[in-house]
Amino acid sequence: MSLRFYNTMTRSLEEFKPIKPDEVRMYTCGPTVYAPAHVGNYRAYMFEDILRRYLIYKGYRVTQVMNLTDIDDKTIRDSNAKGITLNEHTQPIKDMFFEDIDRLNIQRAEYYPAATEHIGEMVAMVEKLLERGHAYRSGDSIYYKISSFPNYGSLSHMKIEDLMAGARIDSDEYEKETASDFALWKGWTEKDGAVFWETSLGKGRPGWHIECSAMSMKYLGEQFDIHTGGVDNIFPHHENEIAQSEGVTGDKFVNYWLHNAHLILDSKKMAKSEGNFITVKELTEQGHDPLAIRFVLLSTHYRQQLNFTMDGLGAAKAAITRLRDFKSNVESASGSGDGIAVNEAIEKAVRGFEEGLDNDLNISPSVAAVFDFVRDINSIIADNGLSASEKESVLENLKKFDSVLGVIFVDESGLDAEIEEMIQKRLNARKNKDFQTADEIRDALLSKGIILEDTPTGTKWKRKIS
Ligand code: AMP
Ligand code: ZN
Repeated sequence: MSLRFYNTMTRSLEEFKPIKPDEVRMYTCGPTVYAPAHVGNYRAYMFEDILRRYLIYKGYRVTQVMNLTDIDDKTIRDSNAKGITLNEHTQPIKDMFFEDIDRLNIQRAEYYPAATEHIGEMVAMVEKLLERGHAYRSGDSIYYKISSFPNYGSLSHMKIEDLMAGARIDSDEYEKETASDFALWKGWTEKDGAVFWETSLGKGRPGWHIECSAMSMKYLGEQFDIHTGGVDNIFPHHENEIAQSEGVTGDKFVNYWLHNAHLILDSKKMAKSEGNFITVKELTEQGHDPLAIRFVLLSTHYRQQLNFTMDGLGAAKAAITRLRDFKSNVESASGSGDGIAVNEAIEKAVRGFEEGLDNDLNISPSVAAVFDFVRDINSIIADNGLSASEKESVLENLKKFDSVLGVIFVDESGLDAEIEEMIQKRLNARKNKDFQTADEIRDALLSKGIILEDTPTGTKWKRKIS
C-alpha cells in the first residue's frame, strides 16, 4: 500500500510522492524559546518524530529542519522583564528542550537553526520582497502587502475579500478576523531595549513569520516536500510563510502541509498563556517514565485531539511494560518452535502495522497489530517455544516496529549501543578507504549531537553541549 497524507492545503488524503524519489525534505516548526516547552508542544514534536521515523522505516532518507525561535515578541518581552540579555534568557530554555527531546527518545533533526543566527538570510528575503512589490515600508518597519499575493488565504481557506485590505498588524500572533498586512521587519522601538540589528533595512528585528521562510529555504531549498506544525500555526504563521516564500521565488513552496490537533488538559488546549501546562521534566520528577509520556503522545492519531490524563499515563506505562516483558520472554525462549505459525504471525503483524501508518499515520491499528503479535507469539512460546532462527526473526521484526514506536529497545545503554555501531561502521569504511561513507557517518553522528575524536587508542565520542 502506498503512503498517504492528509494535506491541509487541499483538505484531502493524497498519495505521498517526494520531489526526489528516495529523499524527503521536511520543515517542522520548532519551539519559541521564551518559556520551557510543555507536554502539549511535545505532542507536535512527537507527531513529527513518528512521521520522520516512519519515512525512514519506508526507506527514505530524511532531512528534517526544526527551527528555534529565539527572537520574537515574547522572547524580547520576557528577557527585558527579567533584565537579562536575549541570549541569557533563551539559552537555558534551548538546553531544556534538548534534554526533553532525549528523555522522550525523539530522534534529532538534521538541523536546528536558531533565528538569531540567520538575520542576514531574512534581510535578503525582505529586500527581494520589496523589489518584487510584495512589501512596503511604513515608518521604520516593513510590511507584507497581502493584496499583492492573489493566493493569500489558500491554506487556511479564507477569502481574500474577507481580509482587511491596507490595515497593518505589528504583533507576531493574531486572529483570522484581523488578517491584514503583517510585519516582515520591525523598526526598533524602546520596548525592544538592546535587542536590534543594524542592517540594510535599518535598525530593528525580523517578524516571526519571515524567520521560518528564510531558514527552511536555506536548508531545504526553494521547494520541499513536507511542512508541519500544530493547527494553530495554519493561520497566520504558515499562510504568511507561503506568501513570503512564493513571493520571493514565484514558485510553489511546499507540497504537503500536515498539522496536528491539540493536546487538551482540563478541556482546554494546553498552553503557556492559559497556565494549564505541565512539563516533561515535572512529570519525570514525579516519577513518571518519560517513555510512558512518549507512548501517550504517539498513540492517538495526530489529527485527533488528545486528552491528557494521569490515567492515560498509567495505561501507557502498562502498555510499554507489556512490550518490554514480551521482548524478554522472546529472548529467553527456547524449544523446537513452529515455523509456519511464527511466519504467519509476523506477516500479519507487518501488514497491520504498515496499513495503519500508511493511512495518514493512523497509528492505532498499527499499535493494535503489535499487541496482537505479542499475544500470538506468546501463545506459540507457551505451546512449542521458539527455535533460534524464529527467535531471531521475531526480535528483528519487533525491532523494526520499535524503530517507529521507540519504547522497547531503548534505555541509555541502548542509545549508546547504536552510536557504537555507527562508529564501528565508520571504522570499517575507513579501513576500506571509503572516506566518503566515513565522513557521512561522522556528519550523521554530529547532527545527533555526538562528537567523535580519533585518538591513538581508538575512536572516542562525547555528547555536544548545546
Ligand atoms: P510554540 O512554542 O508556541 O511556537 O509552539 C511550538 C509548536 O507546538 C507549534 O507547532 C504549536 O502548534 C504546537 N503546540 C502548542 N501547544 C500545543 C498543544 N496544546 N497541543 C499540540 N500542539 C501544540
Ligand atoms: Zn515556523
